[in-house]
Amino acid sequence: MQWGAGQLSFEDLAGPRTLEELRREIEGCARCSLAEGRTHIVFGEGNPHARLMLVGEGPGAEEDRLGRPFVGAAGQLLDKILAAAGITREEVYIANIVKCRPPGNRVPLRAEAEACLPWLRLQIRLINPRFIVVLGSTALQYLCDPQARITFFRGRWLEKGGIRIMPTYHPAALLRDPSKKRDVWEDFKKVRDAYRELVKR
Ligand code: SF4
Repeated sequence: MQWGAGQLSFEDLAGPRTLEELRREIEGCARCSLAEGRTHIVFGEGNPHARLMLVGEGPGAEEDRLGRPFVGAAGQLLDKILAAAGITREEVYIANIVKCRPPGNRVPLRAEAEACLPWLRLQIRLINPRFIVVLGSTALQYLCDPQARITFFRGRWLEKGGIRIMPTYHPAALLRDPSKKRDVWEDFKKVRDAYRELVKR
């Protein structure tokens, strides 16, 4: 299974065996032009053995400043959604399609996303989650299908390589349009129920 359409493949490399090894490998990455404007690489964080992973688009200003994913306003909203679903941030793993901030928070260019995707694919392989929540259309299109529309696929379980995938809106979209909160909550209830079923086994 190939995750997304990355130009680079690490299939033939020995590859890191732990997230820490991967983090060290990514240090100083200059595979795309986003390296020029970043303060920090936002590697991702959370439980290295998480059964639930969340993947967003890319770091914003606060994430770039702190080197942590989803710590700005959208991240705080995501924390609230997770808490409402009875899921702690510590038990999940959170990452993005690109690990360096696109200028002005623009959508990552295809070349940037494709340069960074092999890192994310390795990360997913090492964490080996059972569920991934893809947050927003960028994550949906690069992880699942370049033509997929988030408005159509949100709330529908997808499956790839044995991982169940739930697309939903990015929390930043909820900040712009609070009417989407109801849909996101419906999507997270499905995730919560499936996740609870898994962890109680
Ligand atoms: S966005 Fe990804 S590929 Fe581009 S420089 Fe940062 S870590 Fe490397």
